[in-house]
Amino acid sequence: MTTTRFAPSPTGYLHVGNLRTALFNYLIAKKAGGTFILRLDDTDPERSRPEFADAIMEDMEWLGLTWDRVERQSDRLDRYAAAADDLRAKGRFYEAFETPTELDLKRKKQLNMGLPPVYDRAALALSDDEKAKLRADRGQGVWRFKLDHARIEWTDGILGDLSIDAASVSDPVLIRQDGQVLYTLASVVDDTEMGITHVVRGSDHVTNTATQIQIIEALGGTVPTFAHHSLLTGPQGEALSKRLGTLALRDLRENGVEPMALLSHMARIGSSQPVELVSSLEELADGFDLSHFGSAPTKFDVDDLYPLTGRYLHGLPLSAVAEDVAALGVPDDLAEPFWTVARANITTRADLGPWWDLVQNGATPLINDEDRAFVAEAFALLPDPPYSSETWGGWTNAVKEATGRKGRALFMPLRKAVTGRERGPEMAELMPLLQKKPGL
Ligand code: GLU
Repeated sequence: MTTTRFAPSPTGYLHVGNLRTALFNYLIAKKAGGTFILRLDDTDPERSRPEFADAIMEDMEWLGLTWDRVERQSDRLDRYAAAADDLRAKGRFYEAFETPTELDLKRKKQLNMGLPPVYDRAALALSDDEKAKLRADRGQGVWRFKLDHARIEWTDGILGDLSIDAASVSDPVLIRQDGQVLYTLASVVDDTEMGITHVVRGSDHVTNTATQIQIIEALGGTVPTFAHHSLLTGPQGEALSKRLGTLALRDLRENGVEPMALLSHMARIGSSQPVELVSSLEELADGFDLSHFGSAPTKFDVDDLYPLTGRYLHGLPLSAVAEDVAALGVPDDLAEPFWTVARANITTRADLGPWWDLVQNGATPLINDEDRAFVAEAFALLPDPPYSSETWGGWTNAVKEATGRKGRALFMPLRKAVTGRERGPEMAELMPLLQKKPGL
């Protein structure tokens, strides 16, 4: 049974980088008919906020990334304590008392000597008496997992065969001095006890994975299949981490990006398959395969989401936008013709507003100086509404006869004068919608 999880920390809003992780895990579970768990990594009481947890769920619901169940790490602290006891009993857990300043000094010395800044395990040599004294002086220590200094190997679902020398990694701190269980231990306990079969996350977690594999093995769990997707960069390859705050999913929603456009894009960028606009998550799941992804950083340009959003909207029937259309005050009998005319000319739903305004109130004409007299003459030949699908043809013919203009020189100034824009719907289709006679 395939079981995946998306494990955000509720310490901020979801952004495009998180979304990629969420989506991949979701699609793997859906494709296999398995289970997708939303796991809130909320063991840090200072930084975790219920309102961020709510926001995460709201954003995922907006995208249709529904989960089979929610798990909260803060509900499972007893499980982590039990795992810590188990590691202690197995001789894989030790208390260390160095202060951050002392650790920093050690690291600097190592770097100066050209050595990797790996924790020297000084605490392993402490006698019980020394520990008691340190505890009396400094309070509780931190608890480190004692790595087995061997090579840690796994076949990564995206990166292929990986091998990391455990001796090049510091024994990870799993419990802080104040007793707070850290992510690495909590995550391993959850992945094991929840039967997680596939863990997909960003390539910034590769070293974590190496240590987690050893912790899972020490606890007697089954190691899941790990896969690490590349991180997103900006369009020029620049780091995106600092800008992710402005690429929050709620901002994209606010700016009119459509869920299917966003999902279609995020499911394909960084893969060997082209981005294709799909109409459902099922379709995305069917075609999803981690083996299409590579290790190179993936370029992300928020501007790419808008043409896709426009194309998505263009293909929608009125029923899918009926609420937006009604909210503008479009009467029922005009809804269908209005949508038909407007949809090819919008990028986001918000663009419907100006088109409805044009239909209802007319536009401020856009007229080049040299066309002013021509447009005035033309408007004089236009009858009052109501207009039909014949109006545009009849009117432009009359204007052509009266002025001798034809082709683009005839049509363009009239389009610009009527709509106030250079581009837009077929004029023959737009005219019947106009409620007022256009004029100067
Ligand atoms: N809470 C962790 C993070 O957001 C989860 C990483 C993981 O998927 O294990 O980075």
